[in-house]
Amino acid sequence: MPQISINGHPCEFEDGQSILEVALAHETEIPHYCWHPGLSVVASCRICLVEVWAPNPRNDNKLEAIPKLLPACQTPASDGQVVHTDSPKAVGNQRSVMEYLLINHPVDCPVCDQAGECSLQDYAYRYGRAGSRFEEEKLKQSKKDLGPDVLLYGDRCIMCSRCVRFTREVTGTSELMVSGRGASEAIDVFPGVALDNELSGNVIDLCPVGALLDKDFLFQQRVWYLTRTPSIDGLTSAGDNISVEHNHGTVFRIKPRTNLEVNQWWISDEIRWGWKFIHDESRHRIPAVRGHESWAPEEADVAWSTALSSTVAGLKDRHIGVLISPMLACEDAWHLARMARQMDPDALLAVGPVPFEGEDKTFPGGYTIRAEKAPNARGVRRVLEAFGGRVTDAAGFEVALSSESGPEAVVLTGNYPSAWVTESFAEALGDRFVVLIDTMPNRLETRCDVFMPAATWVEKSGTFENVDGRLQAFERAIEPLDYCKSDAQIAIDLLAVHDGVQADWFNAAMTRQAMSIESGMKEFLEEVHMPEAQTTVESDMEVVEL
Ligand code: SF4
Repeated sequence: MPQISINGHPCEFEDGQSILEVALAHETEIPHYCWHPGLSVVASCRICLVEVWAPNPRNDNKLEAIPKLLPACQTPASDGQVVHTDSPKAVGNQRSVMEYLLINHPVDCPVCDQAGECSLQDYAYRYGRAGSRFEEEKLKQSKKDLGPDVLLYGDRCIMCSRCVRFTREVTGTSELMVSGRGASEAIDVFPGVALDNELSGNVIDLCPVGALLDKDFLFQQRVWYLTRTPSIDGLTSAGDNISVEHNHGTVFRIKPRTNLEVNQWWISDEIRWGWKFIHDESRHRIPAVRGHESWAPEEADVAWSTALSSTVAGLKDRHIGVLISPMLACEDAWHLARMARQMDPDALLAVGPVPFEGEDKTFPGGYTIRAEKAPNARGVRRVLEAFGGRVTDAAGFEVALSSESGPEAVVLTGNYPSAWVTESFAEALGDRFVVLIDTMPNRLETRCDVFMPAATWVEKSGTFENVDGRLQAFERAIEPLDYCKSDAQIAIDLLAVHDGVQADWFNAAMTRQAMSIESGMKEFLEEVHMPEAQTTVESDMEVVEL
């Protein structure tokens, strides 16, 4: 395999890689602003210039210095190159670029949302000068409302053009442009055309400084207080890899996690901002049972034990139907189906309604927004079919409700971000015993006999199967709201009450093991893609003992 040397370290590479890509693949940092793996290469920011020596075939392949510094992002790696990022020339350039970028920058880090995750801050510390030599007045640029979700703080911009290239190359919408020349260059939208495409939020992530900001997250939280939990899109069938960023049980934002096989570097705006229902005031927080007064929070234990025992009493010795929502994880589906089949071996299992909006939309950059607005229809069906017997979909379930041999008691699960129960479905339920496990208000909450509040996907761990059949595990980011429980835990509790034993705590990994052993679904042990381990950043500051 060909190799180059970077700062004395041999680095193997594949044909077509640039020096910067080889360095990053070998965990060697070369500072860069304009380069991004998902965008074209423009080599405009100049901070990645490196000193390169290369074998000269016209001089017996002797190593010769290339007279000028070369942009590492644009220079292909070639066998035998010797690259220095820490030579006096390279370091001098890094310092000059940093000094240039900071000339007109307001250095308003204390009030900037990007502080703590800003490349300008980080590189100023690692590659910049300690002081500024600039004594003249800084040029000022305006703040601008670019569209419904994104703000531009013009004087923080370093003109890397990532945002402009994103709207040209990935979304194909080209709302952003560079206006002006020289020191007056500025990012802007074309007159009358707001930045308003379905992927617009990605420019916030792409911006290496605090110039493009998320209106929804603006001044909400300092980023160093946020904990990042790897997760999977819980709203569509795309299976996009995301990070849920939260503090003290409150989610503040969702960001993409890079996965070249699924979502590359991007997520859609509906995934980025569609999670707000998890903190909705109207969410159910405590169980309710028909014929009982509503319980106060301090009576949550009584509420749960009454709800569980009433459910078991209502399901016992009856033909059961269970509607399992495609918003639930495979582990939830498995526990619910197991509970139903243990209480009634002929229980009817059904996948809940799968919402669709329009058609799949693929952008020029390859990212696809899925029309299917449920994360796990395939996973739920896969699990239910592993139980054999009667398995159907939501339409089949509704038909079964109308037939004489239909279920006498039903367990319904929701967890949709918005209303999901149709009038015809509510009518088809007739006067049978109904247990509803759900998150948001819907037309069945006054009709059902028992209501149990469920946890959303960020409040539990599990596995989703995306539209391409890829099984991906996600972790719990925050504790369930108040007295809510995961659907899997509710199923475990119900079975324990039914069997008169102590309930176990739900554990997603143990459940996947049980799914493999008890239901023969080996794929849940062998094929589930787990989130990559988080790497912690070690401070290079010397700690002084006091
Ligand atoms: S706004 Fe941000 S992404 Fe766009 S050119 Fe300026 S620094 Fe780069």
